[in-house]
Amino acid sequence: MTGTVDAHVHLSELPGDLLIPFAKKNGLRYTLRELLTFMGENGVEQGLLLSPPGAGGRPVPNTRIVDLCEKSSGRLHPVLTVEPTRAAVADAVGLARRLKRGVMGFKILLGYYEVFATASVYNQVYDYAESEGLPVLFHTGDTATSAGSLRHAHPLTLDPLANKRPDLKMVVCHFGNPWLADTAELLYKHQNVYADISGMFTIGAKYSQRYFESLAHQLSEAIYYVGSADKVLFGTDYPVETYSPALKLARSLRLPRGDERKVLGGNARRLFPL
Ligand SMILES: [Zn+2]
Repeated sequence: MTGTVDAHVHLSELPGDLLIPFAKKNGLRYTLRELLTFMGENGVEQGLLLSPPGAGGRPVPNTRIVDLCEKSSGRLHPVLTVEPTRAAVADAVGLARRLKRGVMGFKILLGYYEVFATASVYNQVYDYAESEGLPVLFHTGDTATSAGSLRHAHPLTLDPLANKRPDLKMVVCHFGNPWLADTAELLYKHQNVYADISGMFTIGAKYSQRYFESLAHQLSEAIYYVGSADKVLFGTDYPVETYSPALKLARSLRLPRGDERKVLGGNARRLFPL
């Protein structure tokens, strides 16, 4: 398989989904049917599906994400979102055990709670992820709401966890935006730290085009600093980004064709049990 993998997709088809305004802004219907159509039209073979924030800002239940994946004819695969409570951790690990190879990893939402990635409440997730070789994805960088805690969402807060758990595969979502250089240092320093380039821009604002160009430049420079594109993953954060500009960003990175293909899918195929 050589097609593209989208390592960061959201969908719930529920009315309280807090990403609906992003979908509206992008002219999206934000449905499973639409998503699969766009994936097909853009050569995206596989997608990793993550809970969007739902009613009251709480992530949509993981069972909903698993249901949507089951309706996708094997094209979407669940990543289980874990809130920082003992009950949520036990639920997510229990669901992962039941689904076995169907689960691609876990997602932890830094910045949406005043809890660091090193909090002991997450230990059970990390132990399980390590034992199964599953990655843990971390929301990092800008938070979608003004009430978020940037101090807890900073990518460098992952350094102590990576020091303590060198065998845990970690993904820094959104490349830590706007802290791209800090994320590059994490990838350079830690063998098992990866980053996705999802959800890093929106369109339609005064400086959108300038920013898009700046982002392609900054990401290219960050990859040069790391010294390799082998741990960088394509993602859209659908419905935050649509496929056409998201793919344009990946193709605007000044990389050799072979590395571009790795970013678009090869790296995700190595990292996740797809
Ligand atoms: Zn996301």
